[in-house]
Amino acid sequence: MHLLNTMVRDIRSCRICESRLPLGPRPVLQVSGTARILVAAQAPGTKVHATGIPFNDPSGDRLRTWMGIDRSLFYNADCINIVPMGFCYPGRAPKGGDKPPDPACRKAWHDKLFGVLPPPELTLVIGQYAQSYHLGNRRQASLTETVKAWRDYAPQIFVLPHPSPRNNIWLKRNPWFEDEVIPVLQNRVRQVLDASNRIVKSP
Ligand code: SF4
Repeated sequence: MHLLNTMVRDIRSCRICESRLPLGPRPVLQVSGTARILVAAQAPGTKVHATGIPFNDPSGDRLRTWMGIDRSLFYNADCINIVPMGFCYPGRAPKGGDKPPDPACRKAWHDKLFGVLPPPELTLVIGQYAQSYHLGNRRQASLTETVKAWRDYAPQIFVLPHPSPRNNIWLKRNPWFEDEVIPVLQNRVRQVLDASNRIVKSP
């Protein structure tokens, strides 16, 4: 626990890519040594940067709906770790949307952080950068193909598209995702949380 606390303190004071961050550093993550669910995400948007609370935006509302849990459970660090591939808001891309997470973040922190966090029983992999890190060569040819192959990764890993409203068109084109994947995901979230509660409550 001491190692994890020290690392989180170091991440929160990180300035490594400050010169490339339009709003400056504000690392956003939620971790504890007890959570069994990992939300492996991309990077904060402006609303998350403003509040310092991960997924405190419409993307988070949709993600919580997909997981079948409310805000109080989602923000319970004893239950859920939230680790984006870039901890700070990366700025706007020239063609719209946000820039990708700064690769310096992954290089500096992620192997170290995942080296001290307990292995998750369930990982939600969100977006292509988290896919690259957490799936490596287990990815398919495209993000959509990887999401379609969800049975290859479940029940330990669920690969999700980004829950941003910018992905509404993808969700309309791929109705199987919310019809088939989400009910199974919700069952799995409940199962892992129930098991964690039993572990926490046991003498
Ligand atoms: S994005 Fe990551 S590497 Fe860059 S300043 Fe924030 S915490 Fe540090």
